[in-house]
Amino acid sequence: MNYRVDHIPKNTAKDRRPGLAMQATTITIHNTGNPSSTAANERGWLTNPSNDRTASFHIVVDEREAIECIPLNENAWHAGDGSGASSGNRTSIGIEICESGNYAKTLENAAELVASMLRERGWGVDRLRRHFDWSGKICPRLMYDNGKWTGWTTFKNMVSARLAAKEDNEEMTPEVKKMIEELQATVQKQNERIKSMEDQRNIPAPEWAKEAAEYYSPHMNPKTGSYDFWRALTIQYRKEKGITV
Ligand SMILES: [Zn+2]
Repeated sequence: MNYRVDHIPKNTAKDRRPGLAMQATTITIHNTGNPSSTAANERGWLTNPSNDRTASFHIVVDEREAIECIPLNENAWHAGDGSGASSGNRTSIGIEICESGNYAKTLENAAELVASMLRERGWGVDRLRRHFDWSGKICPRLMYDNGKWTGWTTFKNMVSARLAAKEDNEEMTPEVKKMIEELQATVQKQNERIKSMEDQRNIPAPEWAKEAAEYYSPHMNPKTGSYDFWRALTIQYRKEKGITV
């Protein structure tokens, strides 16, 4: 899906872009309430001279694109809960989901967009709000389901699934990378140690065991062994030959 920035001017009528600085703490989801308008239509409406409402939003998404209409570090009038410092209007990024065209595709696009925004901010789906949560308006209305809000649950699940899928594929953090490198170094060291222990189990007869080795040679296969093996063999040999040391 294409994401484009087309900010409305700061002097847009009806104070639709008030320019108040905002450090968003949540993302608020809306439906446009218009079954036929596209994202481009909604963007156009914000600067349409016949629009006399003080209402705006940050991003609008439809089946083919997302348009950022107000910078995400400025407020927009979308939550219907006034202008208090903790209002949705002053603390939340407003996303309008279009109702036109292929709505299933539009929802996919919205879920993808929201997931990427949450990920970017290190947020979970607990940061998502409905317009309803701020002002009680039945919005996003296509998720309402007669008050059961099943569509809202579905949408949040769609976002969660995308977050989880992305986490699996995500680049490793430097900490995890370091941990894995240390682990690999440890495994490498252990392998070398095991190898050298194996080597010690397979040494040829030392000088002091040569006689015994020669004696038992016809029965020995392989002709190598550990230090302890050569020692035991030598003791056996001396016993057999009555050699006392
Ligand atoms: Zn709304």
